[in-house]
Amino acid sequence: NEAVSKNFIEQIIDKDIAEGHCKKVITRFPPEPNGYLHIGHAKSILLNYGLSQEYGGQFNLRFDDTNPTKEKVEFVDSIKRDVEWLGAKWHGDVLFASDYFDRMYEAAVKLIRKGKAYVCDLTPEQIREYRGTLTEPGKESPYRNRSVEENLELFENMKNGMYADGEKVLRAKIDMAAANINMRDPIIYRVAHISHHRTGDKWCIYPMYDFAHPIEDAIEGVSHSICTLEFEDHRPLYDWVVRELEYENPPKQIEFAKLYLNNVVTGKRYIKRLVEDGIVDGWDDPRLVSIAALRRRGFTPESIKTFVELVGVTKSQGSVEYPMLEYCIREDLKLKVRRMMAVLNPVKVIIDNYPVGQVEYMEVPNNQENPELGTRKVPFTKELYIERDDFMIDPPKKYFRMFPGNEVRLMNAYFVTCTDYKTDESGEVTEIHCTYDPETRGGNFEGRKVKGTIHWVSASEGKQVQVRLYENIVDEEKGVYNEEDGSINVNPHSLTVIDNCYVEPELMNAAKEEKFQFVRNGYFCVDIKDSEAGKPVFNRIVSLKSSFKL
Ligand code: ATP
Ligand code: MG
Ligand code: MG
Repeated sequence: NEAVSKNFIEQIIDKDIAEGHCKKVITRFPPEPNGYLHIGHAKSILLNYGLSQEYGGQFNLRFDDTNPTKEKVEFVDSIKRDVEWLGAKWHGDVLFASDYFDRMYEAAVKLIRKGKAYVCDLTPEQIREYRGTLTEPGKESPYRNRSVEENLELFENMKNGMYADGEKVLRAKIDMAAANINMRDPIIYRVAHISHHRTGDKWCIYPMYDFAHPIEDAIEGVSHSICTLEFEDHRPLYDWVVRELEYENPPKQIEFAKLYLNNVVTGKRYIKRLVEDGIVDGWDDPRLVSIAALRRRGFTPESIKTFVELVGVTKSQGSVEYPMLEYCIREDLKLKVRRMMAVLNPVKVIIDNYPVGQVEYMEVPNNQENPELGTRKVPFTKELYIERDDFMIDPPKKYFRMFPGNEVRLMNAYFVTCTDYKTDESGEVTEIHCTYDPETRGGNFEGRKVKGTIHWVSASEGKQVQVRLYENIVDEEKGVYNEEDGSINVNPHSLTVIDNCYVEPELMNAAKEEKFQFVRNGYFCVDIKDSEAGKPVFNRIVSLKSSFKL
């Protein structure tokens, strides 16, 4: 039922359209180019883009680059790449808030002319002091009643570089007694002699976020300006700015709750710290939840979309379990990718009664649940590798895999019976001996039943590759943040690199970012950075078992 399942933002938009306040739904994603995007931003991107699609409107990608100190061109490129990869198509060219600096300046002049803004000489400390507290009203600045002419001249001087940083600011003239502190004559322009990554040294005054953002939205004709909950208290100021500037179709700010994943490092500045401290291998380290990292790990845009839809859009803060994201990628890949054999922890098996030098090609379905993916040929030989833990010398009850005297099915191949094994001085098994029954070819033999089926890779035809397994970068027992110094509690076992894995030869042709199921071992993705032609490296996206149930 569509009417019932609409989220609160859709309900607001429906009403605005019904009441004639909104002719075209225009949304935007306004990242600050000061870091890589993460899973939380993905939610915002897909929400804004999704609404524009649903209502036949428009979605803008706008860089909110009004604060010159922290911004970098590198991040502009990565953000564009990530938004594109998620499948959110922005309208026209990407936009930059800094392109509106002239119009923001004019808007400030307009407020001065209306007697709604003034230049203030109080020091930053005095401004803070005069602002008051939650329980006490603020105090008016002695500069509050300067004339329009004087303010116009001083503001122009600010622009012309006549003052040092912090010497003067432009403030909105609202109400020093307002209950909402954001309305107590907020600063709207400051002096900052800093070069901007796009406008260079053209400006030495920069607008504050609360003044700039509504102007950016209004200039672009944004109908619904969707942001996160921490801006709720700023909405009266947002509304004041668009009202005083007399925009014809003023945008409307709507807040929703940020996405938080339990025991996962999401905040931009925390991810940045892990990168800068060298704990991870860059912003796209597969253990992170930046979009670039999720992509490198092997998550798909579809899985992320399903995830944010499952989480939903609300106004109440909550946090979500990471296994829910894992559930989404398993569901997405289940029928889409081939199921191949790879042995991560190999031990050799020798089939004593199989001809030396013979290579037999077994016809294997690529995905038993999706015949459309066809079949492939997998080489079978006298010597094979199986997983070390698929063999036990002295097994407990209910162990149905290989042990002396037991018969098992080699997946898609033959039934084999273990006859012997060898160990080294330390007792570690070095090789396992078996005999096979030629009658059981293909593994679907009606004559006898076996309980265990194990996967294998030909020792001579299989290929050795590097595989990486991951755990949470956070030590979940301790929680994300160290209570004493706010540092992150890092799990020392978050990365396991295995160099002697054996895979079917077919996997050597895998393309970067191609995904597979390795039977019984999980879903894997060819690493985009460290793989070379003919030399793939595989990242485990997720294991096959799920702790999350829908
Ligand atoms: P962070 O808090 O991680 O540093 P940010 O809010 O500073 O991120 P911006 O570039 O300013 O990052 O955000 C761009 C947009 O993404 C904003 O509209 C912001 O509200 C939204 N956003 C940021 N984090 C989340 C999140 N966890 N969940 C949903 N939306 C988010
Ligand atoms: Mg921000
Ligand atoms: Mg932030």
